[in-house]
Amino acid sequence: MEPILTIVVPCYNEEAVLPETIFQLQQLMVDLVNEHLISHHSRILFVDDGSKDQTWEIIYKEGLRNEYVRGLKLSRNVGHQNALLAGLFTARDSSDCVISIDADLQDDIEVIREFIYKFNAGFEIVYGVRKCRDKDTFFKRSTAQGFYKMMKKMGVDLVYNHADFRLMSRRALQELERFNEVNLFLRGIVPLLGFRSDVVYYDRKERQAGETKYPLKKMLAFAFDGITSFSVSPIRFVLIIGFISFFMSLLFGLYFLTLKFLGDTQTGWTSLITSIWLIGGLQLIAIGLIGEYVGKIYKEAKQRPKYIVDIDSFNLPLPRHHLLNKKVEDEFYKLDHRHRSETN
Ligand code: UDP
Ligand code: MG
Repeated sequence: MEPILTIVVPCYNEEAVLPETIFQLQQLMVDLVNEHLISHHSRILFVDDGSKDQTWEIIYKEGLRNEYVRGLKLSRNVGHQNALLAGLFTARDSSDCVISIDADLQDDIEVIREFIYKFNAGFEIVYGVRKCRDKDTFFKRSTAQGFYKMMKKMGVDLVYNHADFRLMSRRALQELERFNEVNLFLRGIVPLLGFRSDVVYYDRKERQAGETKYPLKKMLAFAFDGITSFSVSPIRFVLIIGFISFFMSLLFGLYFLTLKFLGDTQTGWTSLITSIWLIGGLQLIAIGLIGEYVGKIYKEAKQRPKYIVDIDSFNLPLPRHHLLNKKVEDEFYKLDHRHRSETN
């Protein structure tokens, strides 16, 4: 039996690139089905992460005429990671394996074939790893690599140069769902699942159209989130600094006492003013950092849902009140009819 594959594609304001992405992915799907590598029940699930442009309309219309294309519309923008999760968990129950890929075609879709080979060979998780990043800007490349190195130093086990292009089996997804933390950093969690896994190398391309949805501010926030959801070493670092400055102050204390006994107390001003600023700054950093972790606990304690689904055409046919016009409506009835005869 060929496995049922679902390809999950998170999309945020991707109208510029989406038609091309749909075209290429569905072409690949047809090929894979014809080669008997995957079941003809396989689907591509586009997750609209609260886009403000025509993204959902494109997905919607395509879903009415293309049997491989399904859509999941989130009620608002929840960010890449959560949109991805929404897609993975929606697809999980009716797929044997799920592949996640960005909408901008930066990742080589031909690698999906190799993912399937590996899955059929018994691997539960397959990571797509970039061979080289010379198509990324110098800035993006160096910041990203700095990030991987820093995470490694802090004891977080990441797959080097792997973003969110990966295959996961249904079993792996079921286990993933048990990590019900709100601050979910997928790239760190997936290696923790520990199933049999492998990597596939590929060349990363340039974004085909549209522009990056990760400006510097979001990138920094993402990196910081990744670190603080996985490691307490920043707090430990502050603790060590605290100890160091404590011992230094003992030494200085001795020094100042001797000065006092020598009767030369005028010189204290510089050291005094510097240490006030130093200690004050250190304390603020320490409190701020701890606050960051407390904030995380606060979010976890509330256990708010990570995303809210508005329309799910993966499990249910598209609802009527979202129909666009009469012609589309007729097509919808055909699709609805087919859906019912499939499920009965
Ligand atoms: N994305 C999303 N929600 C967001 C931001 C991004 O679903 O709030 C999607 C985006 O549509 C794309 C993927 O996440 O499919 C990666 O974004 P992008 O390619 O812009 O990031 P980069 O490759 O520049 O790091
Ligand atoms: Mg990209």
